[in-house]
Amino acid sequence: MQFWSYLVEQKALPDPSQFINTAPHCSFVWGEDNVAFLRQRHQLLSAHPMFADMEYSEDPAVITGWMPLVMQNRKAGQPVAATRVPYGTDVNFGDLSRLMVDFLGHQPDFDLLVAHNVNSLSKQPDGRWLVQVQNKADGHITPITANFVFLGAGGGALPLLQKTGIAEGHGYGGFPVSGQWLVCTKPEIVEQHHAKVYGKAPLGAPPMSVPHLDTRIMNGKKSLLFGPFAGFTTKFLKYGSYTDLIKSIKFSNIGPIMSVGMKNMDLTRYLISESLQSHESRVKALKNFFPDVSADDWELSIAGQRVQIIKKDPAGGGKLEFGTEVIVSADGSMTACWEHHRVLLPPFKLC
Ligand SMILES: Cc1cc2nc3c(=O)[nH]c(=O)nc-3n(C[C@H](O)[C@H](O)[C@H](O)COP(=O)(O)OP(=O)(O)OC[C@H]3O[C@@H](n4cnc5c(N)ncnc54)[C@H](O)[C@@H]3O)c2cc1C
Repeated sequence: MQFWSYLVEQKALPDPSQFINTAPHCSFVWGEDNVAFLRQRHQLLSAHPMFADMEYSEDPAVITGWMPLVMQNRKAGQPVAATRVPYGTDVNFGDLSRLMVDFLGHQPDFDLLVAHNVNSLSKQPDGRWLVQVQNKADGHITPITANFVFLGAGGGALPLLQKTGIAEGHGYGGFPVSGQWLVCTKPEIVEQHHAKVYGKAPLGAPPMSVPHLDTRIMNGKKSLLFGPFAGFTTKFLKYGSYTDLIKSIKFSNIGPIMSVGMKNMDLTRYLISESLQSHESRVKALKNFFPDVSADDWELSIAGQRVQIIKKDPAGGGKLEFGTEVIVSADGSMTACWEHHRVLLPPFKLC
């Protein structure tokens, strides 16, 4: 956020409300055990300077002030607790990226190719990389030579990494999971909620699946999202191919992939049960956060794909990673990055 503030001051970025807005970050739990968990979590976190301003309450009246929809018609006498950081933010990373690239586009020595596919990457005898980039519309191929390549292609990073042939990429595999959300755009509901309210992930669920009722501001318009719900797919990108998964399996990564499959049965069960959910059962999950919910006001939207990294475990077999992975070739000329979170924003104040 300091970097973005600097860019705004330098006039490299416009008015920050175009990509960042205040949305309090909250946690909400119900049931005695969960209340005890959140109380202790707050005690430990608020002792740290970064979270010193985190508020905590078990008082339904206070929590109603923070998140009225969540408390409306909730079972009387149910133990509840919540934490809140009032100056949390909602960031539209799509718009932020477009604005940054727009600025760069006005600088000398900057070229941008959109609607192009990186088809191949190969190391030349002179040590430089030859990157073949194909125009999606007319098929024209532009060759680009580079001393250094940063490979950031989301779910497309694994197939491209495999094409580089660098030794450091051996043994990596990927497991695709799609992310779905229930979305509500009805103004009379949307206007009653202004926060990101996180619950607790169900047992066996991966850490990024913590359910949350989320205020999102896109192009100045507010909407509510609830999720994420995982879906099973074999595509690595939202508009990818169903053969992505099978094509990514190589002799060097089959061991780690099989080992991860066998060691993570609870994740497999979780993904199958999530994929088979009906609209009613998703709305039932939302009911925990919005007791007065009406199924007709919400519709399912596919948000995107994640490719969970599988890599060799030094202790043998393979392991599933949920964090960011950076793979660098020994000569430093190639860096590939898989990012599972755009950024992990501590609750800095929005000035
Ligand atoms: C449902 C969902 C919710 C999420 N919520 C959050 C959140 O709340 N907070 C958070 O911090 N993170 C969140 N994430 C994670 C975040 O979106 C990713 O970590 C981030 O987008 C990764 O950025 P990236 O640039 O590495 O990849 P991407 O954003 O996936 O971009 C990669 C780009 O490369 C392109 N590409 C791929 N292959 C090729 C090729 N061969 N040639 C040319 N182009 C190619 C793709 O089309 C794409 O445009 C979420 C992810 C999902 C799926």
